[in-house]
Amino acid sequence: MTEPSTGSGIPASIRRHLAQIVQNVGTPAYVYDLAVVRSSFAALRDDLPVGSELFYSLKANPHPQLVAQLVALGARAEVSSIGELAVALAADCPAHHVLYTGPGKTPEEVEEALNRGVRLFSVESVTDRQRLAEACSRTGTTAGYLIRINSPRGSTGGSLRMTGRPSAFGVDHTDIQALDRLLRPLGRVRPVGMHTFCATNIAAPAALAAEFEQSVRTIAAIAGRAGFTPDVLDLGGGFPAPFARPGALPRHPYLKGAVDAVLDTAFPDRRRNGTRVVFESGRALAASAGTLLTTVLDVKRSGDRTFAVLDSGVNVLGGMSGLGRLRSPSIVPVPVDAGTASPESRLTTPVTLVGPLCTPLDVLAPAIDAPYLHPGQVLAVPNTGAYGPTASLLGFLSRTPPAEVVLDGDHIVATGRFELRTQEVTFRD
Ligand SMILES: *Cc1c(COP(=O)(O)O)cnc(C)c1O
Repeated sequence: MTEPSTGSGIPASIRRHLAQIVQNVGTPAYVYDLAVVRSSFAALRDDLPVGSELFYSLKANPHPQLVAQLVALGARAEVSSIGELAVALAADCPAHHVLYTGPGKTPEEVEEALNRGVRLFSVESVTDRQRLAEACSRTGTTAGYLIRINSPRGSTGGSLRMTGRPSAFGVDHTDIQALDRLLRPLGRVRPVGMHTFCATNIAAPAALAAEFEQSVRTIAAIAGRAGFTPDVLDLGGGFPAPFARPGALPRHPYLKGAVDAVLDTAFPDRRRNGTRVVFESGRALAASAGTLLTTVLDVKRSGDRTFAVLDSGVNVLGGMSGLGRLRSPSIVPVPVDAGTASPESRLTTPVTLVGPLCTPLDVLAPAIDAPYLHPGQVLAVPNTGAYGPTASLLGFLSRTPPAEVVLDGDHIVATGRFELRTQEVTFRD
């Protein structure tokens, strides 16, 4: 592997503010550029069928400014907790643009979501639908729901599959009994459509199209058998983005043609009926906008190996790596300055990048070629705008959580830091 050129893969705006950021908040620091959020949104929007709706999945990055930017661009919100719902509403997302999802909703959260105006839910089982119906009668509200379907595989792609095998998500497409019940209204709730979400991070363009085609055909078969006309077809997502390594956001030039074609075949009346076609994305909207700045604390040898200890471990980045979030379990940082490594101190063997946590599991890269590494050096980890801090083991080892800095091109628009503390809980009699 050749040595990366200094700063390659880091947005120029972030490079320009680097010294100022490091001086003010230190490292680890996440830096997000809203200008990149805008270009990522425009790119994905352009690749999707005309007239379809794009929902931002807040679990990828619930930062208020980032969410507000996406809402201002026209993104709707896919949320899976009251915390995410609060962020979406505070970002001026109208409640009727929210889809509430998740395989384990509590009665309290469903009621809270209804009280805050949410009227569209994805239900994942007969029990989940029952809970929604009961919450609607308690609150005197009505709601529509999408039936989440565990559809058969359309491809072998994706770094983390949700469907096409036994799964906690949704109702098996073969479970006719459950589907028949869910396709009929209950109390104050009624089915308005179907929801599929096959896998995330599907890299091959043909595989992505095949997943959507499979989803559409599965939904059409279920709806057709029951004589049900869906108002909403939520085809989920799976749009890929590079994670924690340099790389451009993939585009999908053939996707809209392929999806429109299968939709027109499976639902020939959909344009006349005004059927809503919905997509969801977290990583493809947020990943490219983020860069993690981290400092090398030590470089040392042990036996025949070299270790570089960073100030960011799995408490800051990659707590999800063990769960299959990373396609390859390795980050690829880039040096932000040439630094002071003398020619004789250049590392000639692969380096294992580890974090500062007292556990041998705190490994960010098993072996990378990084001859330039030296203590004190600041590194940038590009494409970390999705599944960064909130997908990490923030509380483990009680280290100060990373700062988050939001830029808009050349302006710093927000700076903050997570705080972890215990609050007293009061018991009622
Ligand atoms: C996680 C999730 C998403 C977003 O996945 P990305 O890979 O970040 O695009 C979308 N929809 C649902 C239902 C999810 O669970």
